[in-house]
Amino acid sequence: MSKFDYSNFGWKNALRRCKCFIATLLFFSAFLVNTVFASTIVQDMRIGNQPDGARVVFDMNKSVNYRVFLLDSPRRVVIDLADSDIDRLYTKAQNQVIAGTRIGKMQGNDKRVVMDLSRPATVTKAFQIPPQEGKSWRLVIDMKMTSDGQFKNKIGNQYALTNNKTFLPQEEVAPQEKRHWWSSEPEATNKPVNRKRIIVLDPGHGGKDPGAIGATYKTYEKNITLAMGKELQKVLRNKGYIVYLTRDTDIFIPLRQRIKIAQKYKANLFMSIHADSAANRNATGLSVYTLSDTASDKEAAALAERENKADIIGGVDLGGNSKEVNDILISLSQTDTRNKSSKYATYLVGEMAKCTKLVRNTHRFAGFAVLKAPDIPSVLLEMGYLSNRTEESNLRQQSYRNKLAQAAAKAIDRYFQDPEIASNF
Ligand code: ZN
Repeated sequence: MSKFDYSNFGWKNALRRCKCFIATLLFFSAFLVNTVFASTIVQDMRIGNQPDGARVVFDMNKSVNYRVFLLDSPRRVVIDLADSDIDRLYTKAQNQVIAGTRIGKMQGNDKRVVMDLSRPATVTKAFQIPPQEGKSWRLVIDMKMTSDGQFKNKIGNQYALTNNKTFLPQEEVAPQEKRHWWSSEPEATNKPVNRKRIIVLDPGHGGKDPGAIGATYKTYEKNITLAMGKELQKVLRNKGYIVYLTRDTDIFIPLRQRIKIAQKYKANLFMSIHADSAANRNATGLSVYTLSDTASDKEAAALAERENKADIIGGVDLGGNSKEVNDILISLSQTDTRNKSSKYATYLVGEMAKCTKLVRNTHRFAGFAVLKAPDIPSVLLEMGYLSNRTEESNLRQQSYRNKLAQAAAKAIDRYFQDPEIASNF
C-alpha cells in the first residue's frame, strides 16, 4: 500500500463516518416523525344499534383530539377529528337514528364526519379507550333518541364534547358536503395478512349426555356430532386452517367449559355442531343459530355480576378500568361479535342451501349457552332431524357428512374473505 493510498483511506473513513451519522440522524428523525408528529389513522368506523339510540366506534392507530356537537337544519351530529386520516367512508352508516354519513376535509389535516339524523337525538357520551388485547385505540360516541325540544337544547358549541378544550369549535361551520378526496379503495393494511385462522369446532353433547336419539336407528346425537366435527376438521385443515375440537372422544364437557376451550385456543370462529329432534317425525331440514340480542344483553349483565370480567372477555386485563368502561368494553365486544356471528351464519345458510334441505327461516336466534362467548363469533349448526328416518339415515353416512362439511368449509372461506372480517387480521 503506498503512502498516498494510506492518506486517502483516512479521508474515506471520515466520509463513511459522516454517512453513518447522517443515516442515524435520518433514522431517528423518521422515528420521531412517525411516533410524535404523524397523523392519527382511522382504521375502521362502525355504527351499532343501541336500544335507545346508536353507538359509533372509530378504530384508530393512536389517540385523537376530537369534538362532537349537534347542528340543526338538517339535524346532524358533527364529529371533528384533529390531524387525522380517513381514507374512505367505512360504513354505509344507517341505523334507527342515523340517516347517512359523509366525511369532509377541514383546515390542515383535520377531518369532519357528519352524521345526518333521521330523528332527534343527543350525544350522551364521547370517550376514548386505549388499546386492549391487541385492539386499536377506540373513540366511542353514544347517541340517544330524544324529543325535538331536548335536541334543540343541545345544539351548538357550548355543548360540544371534547377531550381537548383547545379543540373546541370556534364557530358554527356549515358541514362540508361530500367531497371525493377519499379513496374508495380498501385501505392498505400493515397488519400481517397471512395469519392463520383458528377455528374451534364443538361436537355437541358427549359422555353421559347422548343428546337426541334417532327414532329409527337409535343413533346417538353425540356420535353424529363427533363424526361431523372430525370430518369438518379434516376438510378445514386441508385448506390450511388451524382447527381444534372441544372434544375428540366420547366425553362430557359442560357448556361453559366449551367456551373456555375456544377462548384458550384464541379461536377466530366457533361452531357448535348438533342434530335436532322433534316429536313430529316429518320435520326435516338444517338450521343455523346465533345468539339472540336480548339473550346476549341479559347474559352480559349476568356475567358481569357473577364472573371475573377479565375472564369473560378473553383474558383482557380490565383491572384498571372503571365499571362503566368495563361494561362498555364488554358490550362493544358483544355487538361486534354478534355482527360477525350473523355474517358467518348468512354465509353458512347460503352454502348449505346448495346441498341440503333447510328449515324455513334457516338462520334463527336463541340463547344457547354455548354461543355466549362475548369475544368469539359463534354459531350453532343443527344438521338435521334424527327424529326423521331419512335424515337420520343421511347423517349416519360419511359421504353425506362430507357434503355438509364441504359446504361449511366454503362458508368459512367466504367469511374470512369478507372485507369487513379480513380487515381484522
Ligand atoms: Zn344437540
